[in-house]
Amino acid sequence: MSYSPQPARRRRLGMVARQAKPQTVQKIVIVNPDQDCSEVKEQIFAQHGRIIKEMPLVNGFLCEFPVQELARLQTLAEHPAVLAMEDDALLQIMCFFRRPLAPGPAQPAQPAQPAQTTGWGVARIHAPEAWKDATGRGVKVGVLDTGIDLDHPDLKENIKGGVNILESAASPDDDNGHGSHVAGIIAAVDNGIGVVGVAPRASLYAIKAFDANGSGKVSDVITGLEWAVKNGMQVVNMSFGSPQDSTALRTAITNAVQQGVVMVVAAGNEGKNDSVMYPARYPQVIAVSATNKNDQMASFSSRGPQIGIAAPGEEIYSTYKNGGYKTASGTSMATPHVTGTIALMLEKHTGAPADVIKAVKGAAEKLPGLGPTEQGAGLVNAPGTVRNW
Ligand code: CA
Repeated sequence: MSYSPQPARRRRLGMVARQAKPQTVQKIVIVNPDQDCSEVKEQIFAQHGRIIKEMPLVNGFLCEFPVQELARLQTLAEHPAVLAMEDDALLQIMCFFRRPLAPGPAQPAQPAQPAQTTGWGVARIHAPEAWKDATGRGVKVGVLDTGIDLDHPDLKENIKGGVNILESAASPDDDNGHGSHVAGIIAAVDNGIGVVGVAPRASLYAIKAFDANGSGKVSDVITGLEWAVKNGMQVVNMSFGSPQDSTALRTAITNAVQQGVVMVVAAGNEGKNDSVMYPARYPQVIAVSATNKNDQMASFSSRGPQIGIAAPGEEIYSTYKNGGYKTASGTSMATPHVTGTIALMLEKHTGAPADVIKAVKGAAEKLPGLGPTEQGAGLVNAPGTVRNW
């Protein structure tokens, strides 16, 4: 006979509560731009749906429905006012940290904050030569990522704000390390310790939409982009991607670009031809591939006709969570070299995102031996970009 506790015991075991909680499914619903949301909202409620949050940037909602309604949701998807209904898909940050080396002979203790070095990537794109003209001062740079280590001695002077999309009451501090690494490549402070960023005076804003494991939902990325638009970010670094297209994400990016935000996106770490990820595949952004110290394609870098530009992305040393430093590789690391370069340029000039992207591409250094699906316009060049406008 199977075990079946009496009702009182079931309650004690918490089984009633678990059984009573209905199973739900979350969907993003996007309404056609020229149509009113109210009729679609009524349809959502008619399917016993609940609106978790509104997403004005895309004229849409994140909704939750009981699973038993799933079969009937097709009616909602086919409603003439609905542009798209899709799952709230996951995006992933795109880097690998160097595996710990086998323990060797004992090393002398390292000082907590080592003397400042200039990363090979920052040097390769000739960023220091641009600093007499521009350091990114006053330019608002959004880092849409896992957060930033807010009290890092090599970053905090440049961190001017941020938001935690995952938990609005919490700070956007970095519980993964990826966002801090990206932030340091863009704008680590020129202060004699650690590293120095491409634009060492740029203003960093931590937009935390990715969790401690480096995963983020499309709906949270959209809310992060909404925050970026509302708070006047001039350029947003997006070192993440997914193999899956999303009407919701494409709409958010189109609308944010229309409102003047430049989007710099990692191409992906698929290591093969025609493997550029989303959102790097969208034409309004600049997609970044990764090179190594020998000016070759990094073996892991995605390639394809959507590549806009190349940047150093292999064995990049930068800031990390908890006040640390780490070496990492990925198109995640290439992307902030381009974002920093754009921050330098935006200190001197302003323009529509398409013109900004055109100027960065126009100043790129063609690398011999690499095709356009690998390097796009070429290797990003910081002083050339500042002068080239
Ligand atoms: Ca420093």
